[in-house]
Amino acid sequence: MPKLWTASNQEILSGKVTDVYFTRTLRVLENEGVRKRVVAEFVAKGFPDGWPWAVLAGVDEALELLKRLPVTVRGLPEGTIFRPWDVVLEIEGDYREFGVYETAILGFLCQASGIATQAARCRLAAGDRLLVSFGARRMHPAVAPMIERSAYLGGCDGVATVTAAEKLGIEPTGTMPHALILILGDCVDATQAYGRAMGPEVRLVSLIDTFNDEKFEAVRVAEALGDRLFAVRLDTPSSRRGSFKRIVEEVRWELDIRGFERVGIFLSGGLTEDDLRELRPLVQGFGVGTSISAARTVDFSMDIVEVEGEPRAKRGKRSGAKEVYGCPVCLATRVVPRGRRPADACPCGAAWEPRTMEWIRDGRLVREPEPTAQVRERVLAQLRFLDAPEPPAGPSRD
Ligand SMILES: [Zn+2]
Repeated sequence: MPKLWTASNQEILSGKVTDVYFTRTLRVLENEGVRKRVVAEFVAKGFPDGWPWAVLAGVDEALELLKRLPVTVRGLPEGTIFRPWDVVLEIEGDYREFGVYETAILGFLCQASGIATQAARCRLAAGDRLLVSFGARRMHPAVAPMIERSAYLGGCDGVATVTAAEKLGIEPTGTMPHALILILGDCVDATQAYGRAMGPEVRLVSLIDTFNDEKFEAVRVAEALGDRLFAVRLDTPSSRRGSFKRIVEEVRWELDIRGFERVGIFLSGGLTEDDLRELRPLVQGFGVGTSISAARTVDFSMDIVEVEGEPRAKRGKRSGAKEVYGCPVCLATRVVPRGRRPADACPCGAAWEPRTMEWIRDGRLVREPEPTAQVRERVLAQLRFLDAPEPPAGPSRD
């Protein structure tokens, strides 16, 4: 066995990635001969950093696990914009059949939803500019496909890693690393060599901050490459930036004054959601790293809310199986006891629509999850209903 600190699919699907108190609970229940049919729900009481909404992701992986068990599963579809207290997933069955999977299912939902939500927030901040996920490299490679999928699902236009792009059925997106320029010794030489090797179908984006000032390199490479140059990329880390906005403005100015208005600017290097909002007017695109790949998790928990048909929940939780209704206009949500409908219309005036759907009935998958590209389109459609989040208060970089 290769010595990597990762769990295999088999270990995850067999319930081995679990907190030991669940296996001990199972042992107690078996020892006592107790079998009880319960309803357990997954809910987040709040979101990181005061996010008012989040994008649900990780449901597909949870279903991949749950479809092997004799349970019934209901919930919201992947890519749903949801609010605190919305029941995103509900499992009904003998607790002994699914209790040990709580750890793994939470892991699927919490991390993927955090990344998808941060990607969606970056999507809103970047507007119509190209947005590419560059941050898988900062996380364990075993989860790169999950990270990139969640980023793409949340609204990124592309992903950097080859294996993730393959799984998503899209072309990976990338330019050139500093390594190429260091080895070939010069930015113009490296860009020309890149163009020769890649052929005309790859748009040439030249990395211009390796040796010299971004402004002079941008002009030099634009003059040398002419029409073949699509954009220049600044990957200046925040430690070197000073006022990054001023550097970008200066590069734009020097290109424009020499007639290179069509040469775009692409930015990367520790960009945050706020950077995107600030720099968007000056550039064509962004590569966003850890602010997406290392996004805060959405902290779901799993709680039993019904035992043998009786509403029963711990203090601080509402008992009983529930359903989520959503407003198609303002994306508000309403949670009601299962089988009931909201008594009134949404405060915005629109009629509520049911959002909870059945995924698995008694161990049989009754609905196929959608392809990721389709989920992404649904996320983008919902984002159009949401206003861009307010930029946080704080000193301007100018
Ligand atoms: Zn509404």
